Amino acid sequence: MISQRAMSVKPSPTLAMDAKAKALRAQGIDIINFGAGEPDYDTPDHIKEAAIKATRDGFTKYTPVGGIDELKDAIIQKLKIDNNLQYTREEILVSCGAKHSLYNIAQALYSPGDEVLIPSPYWVSYPDQAILNDAIPVYVETYEKDNFIVNPDALMAKITNKTRALILNSPSNPTGLTYDRKSLEAIADLALKNNFYIISDEIYEKLVYDGIEHISIASLNNYIKDKVIVVNGLSKSHAMTGWRIGYAAGPKEIIKAMTNIQSQSTSNPTSIAQKAAVAALIGNQDFVTIMRDEFDRRRTFLVDGLNSIEGISCIKPNGAFYAFPNISKLYGKKTPSGQTVNSSIDFALYLLESANVALVHGGAFGSDAHIRLSYATSMENIQKGLDRIKDAVSRLK
Ligand SMILES: *Cc1c(COP(=O)(O)O)cnc(C)c1O
Repeated sequence: MISQRAMSVKPSPTLAMDAKAKALRAQGIDIINFGAGEPDYDTPDHIKEAAIKATRDGFTKYTPVGGIDELKDAIIQKLKIDNNLQYTREEILVSCGAKHSLYNIAQALYSPGDEVLIPSPYWVSYPDQAILNDAIPVYVETYEKDNFIVNPDALMAKITNKTRALILNSPSNPTGLTYDRKSLEAIADLALKNNFYIISDEIYEKLVYDGIEHISIASLNNYIKDKVIVVNGLSKSHAMTGWRIGYAAGPKEIIKAMTNIQSQSTSNPTSIAQKAAVAALIGNQDFVTIMRDEFDRRRTFLVDGLNSIEGISCIKPNGAFYAFPNISKLYGKKTPSGQTVNSSIDFALYLLESANVALVHGGAFGSDAHIRLSYATSMENIQKGLDRIKDAVSRLK
């Protein structure tokens, strides 16, 4: 028999959809995959070389649990230059991916019955990580008309004396939208008045468009900085998803607790991946700009294409690599085989089976009126995928 704890979580639905698409592809079916949650770029060569060199040099033993000083210093420098944030080594923990940093935070921060505010739509792991650590996810609805930015009054209505933390994700997965300074200030104000932490997942920081400036909520002032744990990593910015390097920066006591927890689970992140991460952070950043500019082109192409399809409407995202169109106008229509499309999962399955297009249904992120398409795929695929979606939608009656 498996534990109550294990039964309380579901497998990541985004990975599940991706697996389904890959399985169909393995059968020889030509699938256009908008499901990917990772850049389609390869890790830059200079980063790979650093790992190869580390391997040759025999840098293959345990390192300090929380990461090597060289990497911590590179992270400290990055946070200073990019985010105007000052941290010391004791305030940094390197983990096996940002997801692991988030998990360590959940372990270090939550006690049974604590409430965690999660603006919805949300990234799939936030609620499950809370549940796995005996905390209760409390969803705060956000709306398309507000660009999916959480309304301070709606947030206030959900605050109780059990509120322990709020998870903020800007730029957002799945919506692709970002918080501006004014919205961040309103949230920071609530956190200080009501004494809860803000877990700020900034993994898509480098992928912003339309001249937007990424602002870390921790950088607003020194009071809020003490209530924020910043989470970031190399997966999205440097196409390093497989290397598993992420990090957290925050108050010393919390980082220390997280480090102790990590010392009893994974120990240090992979030694050679840490060396690669140093190269990524301190090396030439041209790659990041090149990738960002290409995503920018694809973003416009995909969003314009989606908006040209009758029944689909999509606000233009300004961050990450996702479009999050509203498809609810299609609900109630029938597929050629006579099934009614009533939900985002019905629509996603219809597209997969009848148009060989894979994407993730919005229900997975807490919003059943939407679907998520990743544009971390080639222009050619985007064009083909759009044609197929258009055709499939025109067959709904
Ligand atoms: C991809 C992603 C992460 C996890 O990144 P890793 O560093 O690969 O663990 C965290 N948060 C969000 C919102 C993501 O999309």
